[in-house]
Order: sequence, then structure tokens, then C-alpha cells
Amino acid sequence: MTDWHALARAVEPRTDAFIDGKPVPAADGRRFPTVNPATGEVLAQVAACGDEDVDRAVAAARRAFPRWAATAPGERKAVLLRLAELIRANADELALLDSLDAGKLIGDTSAVDVPGSAAILQWYAETTDKAYGEIAPTARGDLALVTREPLGVVAAVVPWNYPLEMAIWKIAPALAAGNSVVLKPAEESPLSVLRLAELAMAAGLPEGVLNVVPGLGPEAGRALGLHPDVDVVTFTGSTPVGKLFLQYAGQSNMKQVWLECGGKSANVVFADAADVDAVAAGVCFGIFTNAGQVCSANARLLVARPVRDQLLALVSEKARQIRQGDPLDLATTMGPLVSAAQADRVMRYVEIGRTEGRAVLDGGRSGHAYVSPAIFEVGPESRLSREEVFGPVLAVQAFDTEDEAVALANDSIYGLAASVWSDSLSRAHRVAGRLRAGTVSVNTVDALDVTTPFGGFGQSGFGRDLSPHALDKFTALKTTWVNYR
Ligand code: NAD
Repeated sequence: MTDWHALARAVEPRTDAFIDGKPVPAADGRRFPTVNPATGEVLAQVAACGDEDVDRAVAAARRAFPRWAATAPGERKAVLLRLAELIRANADELALLDSLDAGKLIGDTSAVDVPGSAAILQWYAETTDKAYGEIAPTARGDLALVTREPLGVVAAVVPWNYPLEMAIWKIAPALAAGNSVVLKPAEESPLSVLRLAELAMAAGLPEGVLNVVPGLGPEAGRALGLHPDVDVVTFTGSTPVGKLFLQYAGQSNMKQVWLECGGKSANVVFADAADVDAVAAGVCFGIFTNAGQVCSANARLLVARPVRDQLLALVSEKARQIRQGDPLDLATTMGPLVSAAQADRVMRYVEIGRTEGRAVLDGGRSGHAYVSPAIFEVGPESRLSREEVFGPVLAVQAFDTEDEAVALANDSIYGLAASVWSDSLSRAHRVAGRLRAGTVSVNTVDALDVTTPFGGFGQSGFGRDLSPHALDKFTALKTTWVNYR
């Protein structure tokens, strides 16, 4: 079994940007610290890319694009499959980097995030030589071919909650479709993808096809959003920053923008869900996984009044059993939040819960960035019921009727995910159909697979990650008419 602490002492984080196949410092030499949120220690000083670095990365991606796009599908597949294998071969290091950088549990990064990333990359690699074009049934029988063409330079801007995996959600379909990529990791968690860029070179990805520009959002992220030679931005992050990317596109070259943004997903529990213990486990998983830092976290519990007290007692009991501590210790079941600033932000919502609602389980702050699980019963107008917290804070409301449950669930600017618990198949199916959410999980939470599209309604964004549909974002339909008479 891996000695994670020993590996943590030995690991050497890559700290330069990765442009045109090489590690390079920022043009102006600036760096920013990336901090281990479990301890507050600075892990590394990472290149802080600005306009000039983004220019260089986009130029490298542009130069590399025609050759990569014209590479035979089977060859693109072989390179991407080799990269998936290299992720597996370096799984411990990648898992550790995400755990150190973002405070994620090593049990999760090593068993879920890293193997999941390799599997997703492999899945998209396999699509490269299985994408057929069409022949249109034209009115006069003339020949019109409809093909999917890669778009060019894709800018992928990603958050810190699943640093490697969110990047792979973007990179895998973009590269498989024949695009080149400039990736900007979150400033809180740049280390795993800097290592990934090196592995991509070892896998045989041509220079310039994958570039990584670590840096601050308002600098490197903004420069990508405004860049005149980026064809498409694929973004995962908060709704306010997603809106900025729409503005950047309008102010620059009308690049395509795809947004996977925030959520305030509802977990709707009906009184006919007989296995209350399973429901309570689902409720806890839905809000406390990754310390609540999950876009589709089931952050609102809507519970039928007759089962409210019983369910809340069980959920609180399970929440009290959560063991907070060192993310590298396999016995820990909840790590810190990503940063002290995020812990402060989450505590402001705990304070709102205290003043506007009833504490079922009060939360508290400890260490550098730890916040303990918290549960508050609050009204639907409370900010705790409406705003994304991105931490282990559950907002609870009781309901009396199915219509009221649906109305409460849909009363949100977001629409990323929802869960429904009921032993009545017809009720579950009926309610699932009425929920305005990109993913509805019935008698489970946060169901997810590479084969199914993931994304939101409303201000959770538009466009879908995962599944064959993600490829649509990185290609344009092209029609070629042939006059052969
Ligand atoms: P964030 O919006 O602050 O940052 C996301 C990315 O945008 C980072 O790389 C950041 O550097 C960059 N950025 C920040 N400010 C910018 C600016 N002014 N211009 C350009 N780029 C900028 O989000 P976060 O705090 O890193 O992550 C948490 C958010 O991500 C939550 O809202 C969560 O719901 C969302 N998220 C959504 C999904 C999804 O699939 N829908 C998945 C994971 C996370």
C-alpha cells in the first residue's frame, strides 16, 4: 500500500507553464503560491501567466492545429490511449498532487478521480475512429456531404474541486475531435495538470497540441476569454465568472462559449421512501462528499413533513460520524475546504443559517481551512436556500404536497441536478419529469457516467460535458456539395 506521506515528501511539483511542448516560466517571471489547505503550507510557486504567455500558448496551439486535425483518426486514438495508460502508470503521483493542492481525500483522488480521468480519456480516444459523416437526402438527389470539423484552438478554463478530472472532461473530447487546447487550471490547484502536460508529450502528443497556462483568473483566464485567436471556450466554474466569459466573447471575436456553472440542487424526499436509512446516507453523500465542493451537490433537502424529524435525526447522526482530518489519512472522511478564503466564505453562510433558520447541526471552523458539516432549516427566501455555498452546509425545507415539492425544487436560478426519493415508480417518474435539472437521480444521488451528458438548465450554464454529445461543442457541421454531372 502506498505510503502517501512518504510520497508527499518525495514529490517534485512542476511549476512552469507548459507551452509548445516545453516547460517555460512566465514571460515576466512572476509566480504565485499554491497552498496546501490542510496545513496552510506553500507547496510551490507556480508561473503566473499573463497576456504574453497566453499569446504564446494560443500561437503554439494554432500552429499545431492543422497537423493534429489532419492526423489519421487511428493515430490520434493511439496517442490518447497512450496518455490514458500513462495517467494510470502515474496514478499515485497525480492523486497525491490533487490531494495536496486542493485538500481532497486521497481515498477519493486515488480511487475515483484519477482512474476516472484515465477511463474518460480512453472512452473519447475510442470515438476518434468511430465518427461517421452523413449524406443528406437532398431534394434533387444531388450529393451533399455533412461532416464534423474540429473548430481549432480550444481554451479550457477549469475549477479546483476536481482539478485533474474537470480538465480531462474538456481536454479528452476536444483533442479526440482534432482540436488543439490551451488549458487554464484554477489558481488553487494547478499542479496535477502541469504534470499531465508532460505525460502528454511522453505519449506522443505533438508539441503545441496541449498547452497549460497556470495563472490568476482575472489575468490568464481573462486573456484567454478575450483572445482573438481562440475559437471556443469551454468553462467550468462559478456562474458570475461564466457570465464574464460571455462578455469576453462579445468584446472580442464572438468565440463560442460553453458553460458548466454553479448549482443549488434539490434532494426531494417523499414519505413513501421506505428505506429511510438509505435516504439519509444519500442525503449525506449528496452534500458532504468533497466537503460539499461539488457543483451538483444536493445542497437543498426538501422533505415530506411526516418523515422530516426521523430523516433529520438520521442525517445528523451520520453527519456527526464524519471524521475530519488529514486528507492523506485513509481514515479521514472529510478534508478541508480548498482555501482559508473559501472556509471564511462558507462560514458566512453558516452565520446566515444561524440567524435566519434553525440549526439542526451547527457548523464550525478549525485549522487552516476546515468547516464541519452543518444543517439548517431555513425558509425558501433565505440566501442559504438560494445561493451556492460550495461547502458542507445543507439547507432543509419541509413540504406538504407533491406540487409544493416540485415548486420549491424548481424555485432556483440554477438547474444542474436533482434527486427524487420515492418507492412509487409512477410518482418518481412523474416528479422527475417536472424537475428543471440537467440530471435527475431517482433513489440515489449524483448519478454520473461518461456515457451520459452532464450540464445544466438556467444559470447552471449550457452545453454538455461527457457522452458523445460533448463532441458537438468542439466541432462545427460542414456541408460539401458535389456537382458530379
Ligand atoms: P471560479 O469561477 O472562481 O473559477 C473557475 C475558473 O475561472 C478558474 O480557472 C479561475 O481562475 C477562472 N477565473 C476566475 N475569475 C476569472 C475572471 N475574472 N476571468 C477569467 N477567468 C476567471 O470557480 P471556482 O471557485 O474555481 O470553482 C467553483 C465553482 O465551479 C462553483 O460555482 C461550482 O459550481 C462550479 N463547478 C461547476 C461544475 C459543473 O460541471 N457545472 C463542475 C465543477 C465546479
